[in-house]
Order: sequence, then structure tokens, then C-alpha cells
Amino acid sequence: VAALELVALKKTYKNGVEALKGINLTVQAGDFYALLGPNGAGKSTTIGIISSLVTKTSGQVQIFGHDLDHDVVNAKRQLGLVPQEFNFNPFETVFQIVANQGGYYGLPRKLAMERAEKYLRILELWDKRNSRARMLSGGMKRRLMIARALVHEPRLLILDEPTAGVDIEVRRSMWEFLRQINQQGITIILTTHYLEEAEMLCRNIGIIQHGELIANTSMKALLANS
Ligand code: ADP
Ligand code: ADP
Repeated sequence: VAALELVALKKTYKNGVEALKGINLTVQAGDFYALLGPNGAGKSTTIGIISSLVTKTSGQVQIFGHDLDHDVVNAKRQLGLVPQEFNFNPFETVFQIVANQGGYYGLPRKLAMERAEKYLRILELWDKRNSRARMLSGGMKRRLMIARALVHEPRLLILDEPTAGVDIEVRRSMWEFLRQINQQGITIILTTHYLEEAEMLCRNIGIIQHGELIANTSMKALLANS
């Protein structure tokens, strides 16, 4: 079963903007997929719909076979989301932020704490577990967002512009962490407007423009033709 299936996905906002004009997209399990496109193309709208933050106008969304309309609880369990903006409480500790997220997914407290440790170690934040989030560097805050998104062990991780505005060193280290997570079998979809980022990381790529998917191909094929 595919990690993500979008069928004829459309979104028209109340102001009349047709943000998505009928997107068809399948992302296979295990893939590392980039959704590339200029500002205003429809990337955030697509992610918003997949993560139930934006209501679609029409079309279908399935996450590992669970339909967002008919099976939303199971669909959401498969999905971890890393939004672009930091949205944790800056006064909580790193450990609290990650462990408490487990609680939101109904994990027993002990399991949530074990998972928090596991993902804080993977993201090299364990030494910072007792620090308040506000004290972390920008790169660490981004890693914290990822650890939090993994605590319920989703099979699909979606990141919105994971390295927007960070320096090249932080970007490279983020790439390493994302590769490692993908190698553990988690499907990753990220949006980016850096072609280089897609090239370095992703196996397959979709290019979105004016609400339409104008290309959907392997990174290799794209590079061979350019
Ligand atoms: P991207 O993430 O690729 O920059 P978006 O999905 O944010 O693109 O935006 C797609 C289009 O939808 C743009 O024209 C944008 O102005 C419009 N749009 C996005 N959010 C809203 C909204 N809440 N209300 C109205 N129009 C919106
Ligand atoms: P709350 O549930 O009110 O947010 P705390 O965040 O203080 O309470 O702690 C939640 C649980 O996580 C507690 O049982 C605490 O012992 C445990 N905990 C907090 N920080 C750590 C840590 N660095 N390592 C291991 N366990 C921790």
C-alpha cells in the first residue's frame, strides 16, 4: 500500500483562489520525496490538507490506505508533521515537549517517556533534555520539532521547508538526520524551494506550480534531462 495517495485533490479558498486544481500523486512506502515549487504554488495547502489543518474542496487523501474522510483517526496515526514555524512552548523542557506529545497520541506515560528518550538520542538532543526549549539554538529547535513528530512512531513524516533560513552547516546536519530516519524505514515527504536540497536527499520529486503537479519523476531522471 502507498504511503500517500492524493486523487483529484482540489482546494479553492473562500477568497476564490484556486490553490490546488486537481492533484494526483502517489508516494510509495519508504520513499524520500520532495515537493518542490515556488512561493504560492500550493505546497503548504497540500500539506495542510494531508494533516487535516485545511479542509479540501474535493478529492481524496489516503495515508497508508486510511482515508482521511472515513478513517481519520488511523490516518492521523500514520502521520508525523513538522511545520515550518516552531510551535512548542518555549518554557517547557525538551523532554517535556517530546514526552507530552506522546500523551496526545494516547501513549501510556511510561512508553511516551521511553520514546522521548529514544528520539531525543537519535536527534542528539538527549544532553539537552532538561533545557527549556527557548535556550536551544535554531538547529536544535528544528531537531526538537522532528523528535516530537516521531514520538508516536508514524510511518510517514512530512516536513514543511525543514531548512528554510538556516545556514549551510545546520542544513547539512539536518540532511544527515533525515537520511537516518528514512533509512529506518520511515517515508519522508518534504517541501522545499531549494533544488539542491531535493537533489541531495530525495529519491523522487514532484514539481508543483499554480496548483498543478507539472512533473513527478525520479531525481535521477530529472537530473539526466537537465
Ligand atoms: P506555497 O506553500 O507553495 O507557497 P500555498 O499553498 O501557501 O503555497 O498557497 C497557494 C495559493 O493559495 C497562493 O495563491 C496563496 O496566496 C493562496 N492561499 C494560501 N492560504 C490561503 C488562505 N488561507 N486564504 C486564501 N488564500 C490562500
Ligand atoms: P508534566 O507531566 O506535568 O509535564 P514533567 O514534565 O515535570 O511533568 O515530568 C513528566 C515526567 O517526565 C515525570 O515523570 C518526570 O520524572 C519525567 N522526566 C522529566 N524530565 C526527564 C528527564 N530528563 N529524563 C527522564 N525523565 C524525565
